Amino acid sequence: GPVVELSGVGKSYGNIRALHGVDLAVSPGQVTCVLGDNGAGKSTLIKIISGLHQHTEGEFRIDGEPVRLGSPRDALDRGIATVYQDLATVPLMPVWRNFFLGSELTRGRWPLRRLDIALMKKTADEELRAMGIVLDDLEQPIGSLSGGQRQSVAIARAVHFGARVLILDEPTAALGVKQSGVVLKYIAAARERGLGVIFITHNPHHAYMVGDHFTVLRLGTLELSAARAEVSLEE
Ligand code: ADP
Ligand code: ADP
Repeated sequence: GPVVELSGVGKSYGNIRALHGVDLAVSPGQVTCVLGDNGAGKSTLIKIISGLHQHTEGEFRIDGEPVRLGSPRDALDRGIATVYQDLATVPLMPVWRNFFLGSELTRGRWPLRRLDIALMKKTADEELRAMGIVLDDLEQPIGSLSGGQRQSVAIARAVHFGARVLILDEPTAALGVKQSGVVLKYIAAARERGLGVIFITHNPHHAYMVGDHFTVLRLGTLELSAARAEVSLEE
């Protein structure tokens, strides 16, 4: 069954209704794309799922259990990780060190103090390779990588620290054609590894390249919710 499931979920900020009546499900090995113009409610939706906001209508379930998340920490504890567009990476730090920055967010899950640097590098290297990411030098500052590569490191890092569902907030918005292709490839790799992915994007072509399900929001409500088999670009 789905890891994350929303039924009739809504959110009001005071008397501003940002989201209303939204259904959404994310299952292991599935990419759910969320599309919509500015103001459609995409950020509000992902803030609810990532624990930054609480819904004011409907039901939000994780593994079938109704939840009300109090913080991003709560979401992470349940395996929901968010990779934001502006990436929580430190540009001047080596790639391998950035890989373990997430460990502060996952205390208790990884005995960081008992790891020596060589083991951290080895782990980062193995985890990146498992995602099909081959970097010849993990000592280079992460800021020297391309935008697509930096995203990939952030995705591999989330997977390493136990994410079951990845929320990717406009991961291709700031990238060119080639770098977007790199990120789409890693989204597909995450799906292959059995993760559920919520892919927020403005770009219908990017969505179509990796999506199993498409959710289009408009003015805070569902305009379309359709499985891949139900939609076609050839019309
Ligand atoms: P999107 O991410 O698709 O651009 P948002 O979720 O940011 O959409 O916004 C949906 C609607 O809710 C907009 O009309 C926006 O102005 C409003 N909104 C978003 N956040 C808040 C907030 N914290 N307080 C009041 N209104 C908000
Ligand atoms: P919750 O406690 O449900 O997670 P918040 O505490 O984040 O929600 O509430 C958001 C508040 O912050 C709103 O009531 C509003 O006053 C303010 N706010 C934040 N972002 C915006 C925005 N984009 N537009 C208007 N108000 C905003």
